[in-house]
Amino acid sequence: MPGTIAGAATYALEWKDPAATRLVLDTRDLTIDKVEGEANGAWQPLQYALSDKDATLGSKLTIEVPDRNAKVRVGYRTSPDASGLQWLTPEMTEGKQLPFMFSQSQQIHARSWVPLQDTPQVRYTYSARVTTRPDVMVLMSADNDPAAVRDGEYTFTMPQRIPSYLMAIAAGDLVFKPISGRSGVWAEPSMVDKAVAEFIDTEKMIATTEALYGPYRWERYDLLVLPPSFPYGGMENPRLSFITPTVIVGDKSLVSLIAHELAHSWSGNLVTFSSAKHGWLNEGFTSYVENRIVEALYGKDVSDMEYAIARNTLGREIKDMPEATQALAVKPGTELDADGALSAVSYDKGAWFLQFLEERFGRETFDPFLREYFDHFAFQSITTETFLAYAKTHLFDKHPGKVSDAEIQEWVYGPGIPASAPQVLSQRFGIVDSARLGWRGSKQLPPVVITQPWITQEWLHFLDGMPETLPVADLAQLDAAYHFTGTANGEIAMRWYPLAIRSGYAEANEAAAAFVQRIGRRKLIMPIYTALVQTEPGLALAKEAFEKARPGYHPITTGSVEKVIADAKPKPAPVVAPAPADDESEAPASDEPASVPPTN
Ligand SMILES: [Zn+2]
Repeated sequence: MPGTIAGAATYALEWKDPAATRLVLDTRDLTIDKVEGEANGAWQPLQYALSDKDATLGSKLTIEVPDRNAKVRVGYRTSPDASGLQWLTPEMTEGKQLPFMFSQSQQIHARSWVPLQDTPQVRYTYSARVTTRPDVMVLMSADNDPAAVRDGEYTFTMPQRIPSYLMAIAAGDLVFKPISGRSGVWAEPSMVDKAVAEFIDTEKMIATTEALYGPYRWERYDLLVLPPSFPYGGMENPRLSFITPTVIVGDKSLVSLIAHELAHSWSGNLVTFSSAKHGWLNEGFTSYVENRIVEALYGKDVSDMEYAIARNTLGREIKDMPEATQALAVKPGTELDADGALSAVSYDKGAWFLQFLEERFGRETFDPFLREYFDHFAFQSITTETFLAYAKTHLFDKHPGKVSDAEIQEWVYGPGIPASAPQVLSQRFGIVDSARLGWRGSKQLPPVVITQPWITQEWLHFLDGMPETLPVADLAQLDAAYHFTGTANGEIAMRWYPLAIRSGYAEANEAAAAFVQRIGRRKLIMPIYTALVQTEPGLALAKEAFEKARPGYHPITTGSVEKVIADAKPKPAPVVAPAPADDESEAPASDEPASVPPTN
C-alpha cells in the first residue's frame, strides 16, 4: 500500500559561476508539476526539461534560470515506487494501528523523494514543513522536538550542512522516551521501553567519543527504532539514527551498532567521503571509532572479540573478491563498478588500517591526530588522497620511521590483508575454539560451566568456526542443548540457519522460513536465502517464504532476494554431510553467502 509525498522544494541559491544560467537537479521517478523563480516577491514560471530515465541515475531535471533568481521552487510528487521510501500498512507494524513510512536515502535514493543535487560533494542546510494525517508523528534528520504535539502539522530546521544521503524522514505511531538530556528513543509505543533499556548506555557512548575526538556537534542524538523490515542495521541520519529492532535482544550484546551509528557523527556526517569510491573514509573510520567506544564501555575483551568476528568474515569474503575491490581505494583514474565500492573491505579492512596506524604511532599520538583531522575537515567532503596528504604532513612526516610509504600504499591501494596487519588474540575465543574442537572430536558438549557465561559474541564465534556442513545428528545435539532453532538473536540465526540448511537438517526449515518472513534486514536474511537456493526443495521453500514476506520487505531487500532466486542453480536434493572421518579442518565454511554490503 505505497503512498506518495507531494509538495514543493524551494532552493536558496548563491550563483557562483558568473556565466551560469541553469540549475541541474537529480530526480528519480518524480512527477514535476511546475518550476518557478522568485523575483521582487513574485513567482514566475521557469522553463525546464526532464531527461529520459537512466536505470542507475534517474532523470536529470534541467531548469533554465536566465535571471539567476536567488530562489527557485519545484512543485513535485513522488512515485508509489520511490526507491528511497518504504510505506508499511498498519499490519506490518508492531502496534498494527497506524501506517508507517520511512526513507533510506543512501547512496543515491534521496532523489526519489526530493529533487536535489544528490552527491556528497554538495552540502546544504534545510527547513521543512510537513503535513500528514493528524494521528501520525513525523520526524526528520533535523531538530526533532521530544515534546512535539501529534497534530499532523510539523516543522523542522536542520542548521548544520549535510550531504543529500543524510536527508531523512519517518512517520508513524511514534512516541519518545529520554535516555539523557540530549538523547532518547523514538519508537512504537510497545517497543519504546525495551529500546530504552537496551540503549541506556547511549549517553555514555556520546561522552566517551567526545573525550576521544572532540565535541558532538549536532546537539541532540536520538534513536529511531524502525519496523523489522528496515533493510539495514542502522542508518546514521544526523541527530536521529535509524535503527533495526533486531539489535534489541535484551542483554545489550549487539549495541555496538549504536556505537557505530553514533561514531558516524564524526566520521561520515562531519567529515564525509566525496563519493562512494572513498567509502572507507566513512565506514572504516566509523568501524574503528565504534571499536574504541566498545572497548571504553565494555572492555578490551569484548572489543577484541568484535574485531576478531569482523576479520574472520572479511577473510572469508575477500578471497572471493576481484583484486580491484580488495583495495580500500582505487588509485585516481582507475575505473570501478560502483556496486563493488562498499563491502566488508571498506568497513573492516579500513578499521584494520587505522588500528595498524594506532599501533605504530601509539594512542598518545594517534588519538590527537584523529581528533584534529575531524576538526580540520569538519563539514567537508574529501577523498582518500586528501586524507593521505593530511596524514603525511600531520602524522607520517612528523614522526618519521614509524611507517614506510610502501606500507601505506599496500594498505590503501593493495589487495588482500597486508602482512603488517596487527593480530587480535582473544583469550576468550581461544576457549571457544577449544570447546568446539573438543566437541567435534568427542561429541561431548563442553561443560555447562564453560558455556553458561558466554555472551553473544562467543556463540557467534562458536558457530563461525564450524565446517561448511555437519552431520544431522550433530546439529540435533547442538540444537537440543543450545536451542539455536527459533533463537530471538538474529546474529545467531544468520549463522545457524544456513549451516542447518546446507547440512540438510530439515528441523530448522520452518523456523528459518518464519525468520526471513519476519525480518527484512539484508545482512541477517540473505545468508539464509543463499543457503536455501542451493537445492531444489530449498529453492521451493525460499520462493514460498519470499512470496509471503514480499509485501513487508523494503524495495532494497526485495531486489536482493529476487536476484538470489533468479541466479539460483539448485542441485536436486539436499546434500547431507558425510560422517566426519578424519576431517581435521577447522576452516570456516568456504562458500559463504554472496557478500551483502554490511551498510550500517
Ligand atoms: Zn556505517
